[in-house]
Amino acid sequence: MAQTLSSTKTADVVIIGGGIIGSAIALRLARSGVKVSVIDRAEPGAEASGAAAGMIAPQGEMLEPDPFFELCTASRDLYQDFVTEVEDLSGERVNYRRDGTLLVAIDEHECEELDHIYTNQTRLGLPLERLTGEMARKRVAGLSPQIKLALLVDGDHWLDNVRLAHALIKAGEKAGVEFHWKTTATTFEVQGGRVESVQATADQKGSALTFSAHNFVLAAGCWSKALAATLGLNLEMEPCHGQMIEFETREELPCVVRSGIHYVVPRGGRTVVAGTTAEYIGYEKAVTAEGLESIMQGVSRIAPLLKKAAFRRAWSGLRPDTKDHYPILGYGEPKNLVFATGHFRNGILLAPVTAKLISELLLTGSSSFPLETYSPGRFKSN
Ligand SMILES: Cc1cc2nc3c(=O)[nH]c(=O)nc-3n(C[C@H](O)[C@H](O)[C@H](O)COP(=O)(O)OP(=O)(O)OC[C@H]3O[C@@H](n4cnc5c(N)ncnc54)[C@H](O)[C@@H]3O)c2cc1C
Repeated sequence: MAQTLSSTKTADVVIIGGGIIGSAIALRLARSGVKVSVIDRAEPGAEASGAAAGMIAPQGEMLEPDPFFELCTASRDLYQDFVTEVEDLSGERVNYRRDGTLLVAIDEHECEELDHIYTNQTRLGLPLERLTGEMARKRVAGLSPQIKLALLVDGDHWLDNVRLAHALIKAGEKAGVEFHWKTTATTFEVQGGRVESVQATADQKGSALTFSAHNFVLAAGCWSKALAATLGLNLEMEPCHGQMIEFETREELPCVVRSGIHYVVPRGGRTVVAGTTAEYIGYEKAVTAEGLESIMQGVSRIAPLLKKAAFRRAWSGLRPDTKDHYPILGYGEPKNLVFATGHFRNGILLAPVTAKLISELLLTGSSSFPLETYSPGRFKSN
C-alpha cells in the first residue's frame, strides 16, 4: 500500500488556479515583493486559458457604454505594458497584435447592428472606420461577396493566449512565484472567520499538502463554484462550453474577422483559429460534429475560402460564466479570501486589470476601480 506523505507549505498569498487569471495575479504580487504560491490541479494552459481565441476585444460588442465596458477598456489599455513585462521576464513572445478587428455584416439585422455600434462609438470618440463590402474585401482577401458593411475597430486587439499562458508562468517563476502543478485543492481550514490553510493532494506523489498563508485567492475558473461550496458559499456560476477549430490557410489573415459569435483569429503565419459555440451542458468537454459544423457554417459564410483550408485540430473549453455574466472580484467571506473568477468570455482581455485590482486589494486594502458590481456577496439573496 502506497504511503501518504504530508507536508505544510507557507506563503504570504496562496492562489488556487494557475490559469491566466491566477498567474497574472501571482506575477503582479511577486513583482511587489509578496511570497506567492499557486496551486493548480492540471498543467499550464489546460483549461479555458489555453482553449480561448485570444481576442482582446472590448469594443466589438459594445452597444451602450457601461461600467463593465470601462473595466474592459482599462484592461485593454494595460495590455501593451503587461505583454512587455511578461515577454521581457520570460524571454518568450506572445504575438500581441494591434491591427484591429473587422466586424462584418451580411443580412439586414447585422447591418443595423453595425450601424448602431458605429453611431454610438463615434459619438463617444472611439476610433472606428466604416467600410463598404468592397473596401473590406480589399483589406482582407477571401471575404464573402455577400458582405455589405464592415467596421474596422482599431481598439480591438489579439494575441496567442496559449503562448501567453506559458510565458506568464515562466515570468512568474522568474519573479519568485512557486507553482505547484497537478496539485488539487480540496478543502479550506477556517478558524475565527479566516482561512488558515488549504488542503491539497499532489496527484503525482499521492501526497497530502497543506498550504497556509495570510491571504488566499480563488481563481479556479469554472471549478471555483465547487470550492466555494465547501465554504457554504453559492457563487451562481455555470460552465459555458465553447468549441474551436485550427486551420492552415493559403494566405496570412491580416486581422480578426468577426460576425456575431463567429470569428477567425490569426495565430501567426498562416495559422488561424475559428470559433465558436456556446452551450450550457455542465462540465462536459466533448468536441462534437454538430459543434464543428455550426462553426464551419458560421465562418465560411463570412470567409468561404476557409472551406479549402487545411484542418489541423479542434478542441473545446469551459468559460466560467456567472448568473449576470460579470466576473466575481474582491474580498468575500471568509475575510481573507479574495475571489478572482467568473470572467466568462473575457478572461484573456481582463487578465491585466484583474491582476492590478486584486493585487491592490491585497497590498493596500482598496482598489483603484469600484468593485461593488462584481462583489462575491451579490448572489447571497438568491
Ligand atoms: C472557446 C473559448 C474562447 C474564448 N475566447 C476568448 C477570447 O477571445 N478573449 C477572452 O478574453 N476570453 C476568451 N475566453 C474566455 C477565457 O478563456 C476565460 O475567461 C479565461 O481563460 C478564464 O481564466 P481563468 O484563469 O479564470 O480560468 P482557467 O483558465 O479555466 O483556469 C482555472 C484553473 O484552475 C485550476 N483548478 C480548477 N480546480 C482546481 C482545484 N480544485 N485545485 C487546483 N486547481 C484547480 C484548473 O486546472 C485551471 O488551470 C474564451 C473561452 C473559451 C472556452
